[in-house]
Amino acid sequence: MTSRHSPLTTSGRCTLVGAGPGDPELLTLKAIKAIQAATLLLVDDLVSDEIVAYARADARIVHVGKRGGCKSTPQEFIEKLMIMAVREGENVVRLKGGDPFIFGRGGEEVEHLRAANIDVQVINGITAGLAAVTSLGVPLTHRQHAHGVVFVTGHAKPGDQGTDWRALADTAHKAKLTLVIYMGVSGAGRIQNELLTGLPASTPVAVIQNATLATQRHITTTLGQLTDAISASGMASPSIIVVGDVVSGVAAAQELPAQFRAA
Ligand code: SAH
Repeated sequence: MTSRHSPLTTSGRCTLVGAGPGDPELLTLKAIKAIQAATLLLVDDLVSDEIVAYARADARIVHVGKRGGCKSTPQEFIEKLMIMAVREGENVVRLKGGDPFIFGRGGEEVEHLRAANIDVQVINGITAGLAAVTSLGVPLTHRQHAHGVVFVTGHAKPGDQGTDWRALADTAHKAKLTLVIYMGVSGAGRIQNELLTGLPASTPVAVIQNATLATQRHITTTLGQLTDAISASGMASPSIIVVGDVVSGVAAAQELPAQFRAA
């Protein structure tokens, strides 16, 4: 199939790079190479400084998140900046937390760049939901406990109804699925109530904050106790909420001597 527009003949280019969940050792080699080649880096909030440190000394680094209490840079501005920079011949790397195509609006960025006739490459990163559960030493799928996994957002676009938690609870129960909820802590009350329509109150739940970073912490609880456990522990964003029977293995995994646990 030939595309309607041929890519611009310029040396500029753009790559969306997944920076992984936080620990720099979880970066891919491809990600490191792309970061090292960039002349302009647009860096999201959840990307740690150790990862940005791979950039060339002469690269321009722009933080576009909410760091330092500032408002985050509007998405349209980020996209305009990327398009302008590519047209000026820059090698633009958009560094996004986790995987660029799991939430975080990577899909929209790619669409807008392609609409501007700019060729975009995407480099996967380890998504936070995957790393968070692995860090507890349990799997997302299991032949006995979970036949599949759903990555789902707890945060809807303004004006959008958002996730149908009732339908999801019903399906998760019947089909034995693990639910991995991103951006769910602030709306945990509603999520809990709606999931309880289809899942037992005894369903095991884990909440993992700052997964793979030195500041990582987690709690395990049940769906029936979720909001109380979050309030009591003070768990806050960025956190992943995992709902499903695989979580019941966490206690056993944590008892293992350190050398047998997931890194
Ligand atoms: N693209 C990212 C997700 C962006 S949405 C990815 O693939 O991981 C931002 C949400 O991701 C946060 O609100 C939180 O729910 C989750 N998140 C990102 N990093 C995290 C971390 N280190 N620990 C726990 N949750 C994290």
